[in-house]
Amino acid sequence: MGILEDVLKALERVPGWKRISGLPSEVDELKKRIAALEERIAPASGQKCPKCGALAYRLTSSSPVDDDFADSGAMTDHYSCSSCSYTNRVFRP
Ligand SMILES: [Zn+2]
Repeated sequence: MGILEDVLKALERVPGWKRISGLPSEVDELKKRIAALEERIAPASGQKCPKCGALAYRLTSSSPVDDDFADSGAMTDHYSCSSCSYTNRVFRP
């Protein structure tokens, strides 16, 4: 029997070792649960998407209107949904 096996057998007799040896899988499980919760929370900062309904519809940019209204200061707001990739432009006088 090698030294490594002896050490592992000795560790099994240490109180709490079983719990410590289970920590990596417990941490992985907790990471998955946190990621799932973050995914549910993060879209809440967006508006409701008109196409898919997810709260992931956000203003991504604004640009001056480049047609007859260019001198009026009118803007075009560009929106996109990070859930379904729906995009829309909204004219803002
Ligand atoms: Zn959407």
